Amino acid sequence: MVPQTFSSSYLTGFMETLKFAVLPGDGIGPEVMTVALRVLEQAGQRFGFRPDATHADIGGIAIDNHGIAYPDSTHQVCEEADAILFGSVGGPKWETLPPKDQPERASLLAIRKAFSLYANIRPGLLYAEIADASPLKRERIPDGIDIVCIRELTGGIYFGDKSTSTLDNGEEQAIDTMVYKTSEIERIAQVAIDTALGRGKRVCSVDKANVLECSVLWRKVVAAYFAEHAPQIELDHMYVDNAAMQLARDPNQFDVLFTENMFGDILSDEMGVICGSLGMLASASLGARQNGRGKPFGLYEPSGGTAPDIAGQGIANPCAQILSGALMLRHSFGLNEEADAIETAVRSTVEAGARTADIAFGLDSVGSEAMGEAVLERLA
Ligand code: NAD
Repeated sequence: MVPQTFSSSYLTGFMETLKFAVLPGDGIGPEVMTVALRVLEQAGQRFGFRPDATHADIGGIAIDNHGIAYPDSTHQVCEEADAILFGSVGGPKWETLPPKDQPERASLLAIRKAFSLYANIRPGLLYAEIADASPLKRERIPDGIDIVCIRELTGGIYFGDKSTSTLDNGEEQAIDTMVYKTSEIERIAQVAIDTALGRGKRVCSVDKANVLECSVLWRKVVAAYFAEHAPQIELDHMYVDNAAMQLARDPNQFDVLFTENMFGDILSDEMGVICGSLGMLASASLGARQNGRGKPFGLYEPSGGTAPDIAGQGIANPCAQILSGALMLRHSFGLNEEADAIETAVRSTVEAGARTADIAFGLDSVGSEAMGEAVLERLA
């Protein structure tokens, strides 16, 4: 895909311009991205801003078009933007490539590293109206679910040294190294604090301090940092195996679930499942870098992947991508009212009974485009 600029003829010059990169990726990525961009466009009409989105290839489509999952040209588009709206990457077509060249590792991990996106904020939100979409019994979540997972994103075992070797006896051996430094733990602790202050002021820090040295350090640093910087926040510590059970037993016991990279990867996916559908869950990944507006540069994406099982059918739920756009407005552009309006439009659309197949459960379902139309109606 040749980078192109997305703008609308009715938009006028004096409107505030929001400059962001759009990386739709593979599978359902481009389908839901189209809907999300229309919602941003409409929000711009209502609130008076102009989305200035530059598209570029990432993931499998970039391998096909440029021979590499994260081309320099795409990196340059991101460098020049104030935020990145990301779809999802990967799919069966590229699964036979060596693991290091596959879309997720070669693009998503690469872009997180390139922009030091160390903080992943993933809301776990299930509206009461679609509580049946959760595998949990309705009586356990009568009011739905409302928690947030804060995951450290650029440290730990995914980024430590890796090696493979063949031992003298011919056996193969593989090594992944988990590494954390105090400064890495402190900066993500601050994100957990900021998030908790805007919510219920409770943080549960998850580790495996009974086994792992990294977790011993994590627990020590987190306890000291919270004691010094946020004594008003109720801080608990929990082992990751227990946290996985508690999340399935009673998710609303948590307010902010806070953990390192690999544990966060697993727990946030568990959170995704109990929240019904990955099609409803957005996420934000923020780094230390400030954008041209003095706000955090961030990457905003649905929690799910490319959904190859439904890609191309026009039935993917666009809400996660739409809500990712709302997170982008809030965190990277400081447009809280605008973000709230999009989130309210999505919520009232679902409350009114519009459902894509993943959240329909016996009700009639609509396709991605019609779901987007329903959100647009409420946003207008
Ligand atoms: P997936 O998230 O793509 O799909 C899991 C299930 O959730 C599927 O049944 C899918 O249909 C459903 N689903 C996901 N998003 C949906 C939506 N918006 N609407 C309706 N249903 C939705 O996970 P997977 O099947 O394990 O992975 C598929 C591909 O995606 C793989 O190549 C994987 O590497 C990639 N992946 C990419 C990302 C990313 O780009 N951030 C994340 C996870 C997986």
